[in-house]
Amino acid sequence: MHNIVLFGPPGAGKGTQSEKLIQKYGLTHLSTGDLFRKHLGEGTELGNLAKKYMNEGRLVPDEVVIGMVEEKIESTKDAVGFIFDGFPRTTAQAEALDAMLEKHGMEISGMIALDVEEDILRERIKERGKTSGRVDDQDDEKINTRIKVYLDETLPVAGYYEKQGKFQKINGVGEIDFIFDSISKVIDSY
Ligand code: AMP
Repeated sequence: MHNIVLFGPPGAGKGTQSEKLIQKYGLTHLSTGDLFRKHLGEGTELGNLAKKYMNEGRLVPDEVVIGMVEEKIESTKDAVGFIFDGFPRTTAQAEALDAMLEKHGMEISGMIALDVEEDILRERIKERGKTSGRVDDQDDEKINTRIKVYLDETLPVAGYYEKQGKFQKINGVGEIDFIFDSISKVIDSY
């Protein structure tokens, strides 16, 4: 069983690579951004709570995110492993994830970080904004906030896994299939 944290700034390609990874390895995709967007679309209480944070590009409070992830893990009984995408985004979330997995006799196999420079991220997010319908993909101020939040609050999570000897960085720029091969090599080494 592999539990993988796919890490990187907004626009790094986590969603695209996750789709290919779930097909190849049969893992369950757990994207907190997708889960929040689903709640938003369905107008649930959780969705309404998350909305203002998401629309401004800020992080939803830890306890809300952690509760939602726990519920998803508990309700996915037959999983052979998870790809965590967009989670954990703070050290508190990473600690909570370790505790949750331990409770179920699981652990994180490793974090794979997609490395993409800032100019390319901005281009990719704007391009995606043309079709994604995401409010947070469409204006410079929101994109700037998301990148700043990543640098200030999320980047330390890489150090959390590095300390555990579970961190690997790969180049996230280039052909999608080439990047996918690099990720697969890391997973196959677990
Ligand atoms: P994403 O699709 O991963 O870019 O997430 C979209 C938005 O959902 C983020 O900008 C946050 O507002 C919220 N979000 C997603 N995942 C998390 C998380 N792990 N912690 C806090 N907020 C999150």
